[in-house]
Amino acid sequence: MLEMNSSYRKNCTKNRNGGGEPAVETKRMWINGEWVEAQSGETREIINPYNQEVIAVVPEGNREDAKRAIQAARKAFDEGPWPHTPAAERGRKLFQVAELIEKNKEELARLETLDTGKTLVESRADMEDIAGVFRYYAGLADKDGGEIIDAPMENAVSQVVREPVGVCGMITPWNYPLLQASWKLAPALAAGCTMVLKPSEITPLTTLKIAELMEEVGFPKGVVNIVTGAGPTVGAELAENIDVDLISFTGGIETGKKIMQAASNNVKKIALELGGKNPNIVFADCDFETAVDYALNAVFFHAGQVCSAGARLLVEEKIHDRFVEELVKRVKKIKLGNGMDENTQMGPLISAEHRAKVEKYIEIGKKEGAKLLIGGKRPEGAEFEKGFFVEPTIFDGCTSKMRIVQEETFGPILTVETFRTEEEAIRLANDTIYGLAGAVWTSDMNRAQRVSRALRMGTVWINDFHPYFPQAPWGGYKQSGIGRELGKTGLEEYTEQKHIFQNLDPQPMKWFGS
Ligand code: NAD
Repeated sequence: MLEMNSSYRKNCTKNRNGGGEPAVETKRMWINGEWVEAQSGETREIINPYNQEVIAVVPEGNREDAKRAIQAARKAFDEGPWPHTPAAERGRKLFQVAELIEKNKEELARLETLDTGKTLVESRADMEDIAGVFRYYAGLADKDGGEIIDAPMENAVSQVVREPVGVCGMITPWNYPLLQASWKLAPALAAGCTMVLKPSEITPLTTLKIAELMEEVGFPKGVVNIVTGAGPTVGAELAENIDVDLISFTGGIETGKKIMQAASNNVKKIALELGGKNPNIVFADCDFETAVDYALNAVFFHAGQVCSAGARLLVEEKIHDRFVEELVKRVKKIKLGNGMDENTQMGPLISAEHRAKVEKYIEIGKKEGAKLLIGGKRPEGAEFEKGFFVEPTIFDGCTSKMRIVQEETFGPILTVETFRTEEEAIRLANDTIYGLAGAVWTSDMNRAQRVSRALRMGTVWINDFHPYFPQAPWGGYKQSGIGRELGKTGLEEYTEQKHIFQNLDPQPMKWFGS
């Protein structure tokens, strides 16, 4: 189990669950600068998806808890010092958060792996990225000093300034719990907003931990609130409540639509990061070995539970057979297991419910006539009995009419389609409702540029897959979302622009009644 530092202990009590079993931590949530239980007293058990052991018990907040947190954030915004704190000072605090994340990196990574099942290598990389996000927005906080506009009249000054948007509601998914939270918390804090964040009900632990780190840094009370609980209760309250000025959501498309509807209540600003069904286009003139290697990384990272997973392989017909043969050879060697084991390459899926959804898609694929090359079932053996595992799976002979090609399976499933021409590759790549990300593999740089521009996606990788970093915007075209996180745009989302016009020589106009 985790090595816990002293601040971590403040937010939890330990229960013996009988029979001399290891203690399970009972956590509290963070509202108005205090660690509190749910008003109802209800709790939820948090499960390790590798072995179904209870790793913590957290408060099961409801609408009343969400309202209380929203009121705290409202008061902190309307009456508190944070929105008026000099941007450089806000930046300094964010630098301190980044330092603490780095200091606690191993503990955070282990906690993320216990909660999500992802491998430790991935969790450690997440923590480095998260520290980087806080550091980036710390540096950016005081860089936009507004601008002076050349007003089209004499004796006037026209300024444009940016101000914090207000109280922000934030809702995050289970696949990258702390990473997705950091993409929202860091820019919102840099902008001077106050906030209520609801982590996924099944993976709240690292988000609660970062609240402790923030407590250590010392933000004014009510600036950051973390409410644990379910989507239809806490999440829906955040989306509906008229005291919330902006709702930033990362999650599935159907939930995103509900958030949009609820946000219309008070015409909230909305930022949506939704799903993807991302093409990985491989031309025959690619570097074959590297393209094979990345095709596997693209789809099997975090067992395919990645919004930008390269789940659709589009391979040029003339190299199809060799490419697929090589993929299958490599897939046979993927080591499934406990994410906490340093040798594991792929962990379990997040829950029994999610595994059932992924297995349903495998059945759909078979019925649709796709050719199952490998996987398609649960791995055998004692080690896999309790975990929510599905083998890495490849379906060949797919077409864009199939549901397994069109819908986000969010599991370790690769579909393979072939193309003959560049035009056909582009057409197939764009042929879904999504537009999050995609990649093109070729040694012809002119073609690489042409294809990149033709893809209707927020991110395109050339001869690579997956890189993202705080300096570059992230978000989707089409139904993959609204707005951008990361980059300068990621900060602008949490600001309003104000135009201030000053007449330096006011004189009566004598227009009316003179
Ligand atoms: P989800 O939509 O089921 O849940 C996301 C969050 O929304 C959770 O916190 C959940 O409790 C909450 N929620 C559920 N119902 C709600 C409601 N009615 N009102 C308000 N909140 C509600 O998604 P998930 O299964 O947790 O995550 C997987 C999805 O997230 C995938 O579709 C994936 O593509 C997407 N995702 C997108 C990005 C991106 O950057 N575009 C990143 C990560 C994940």
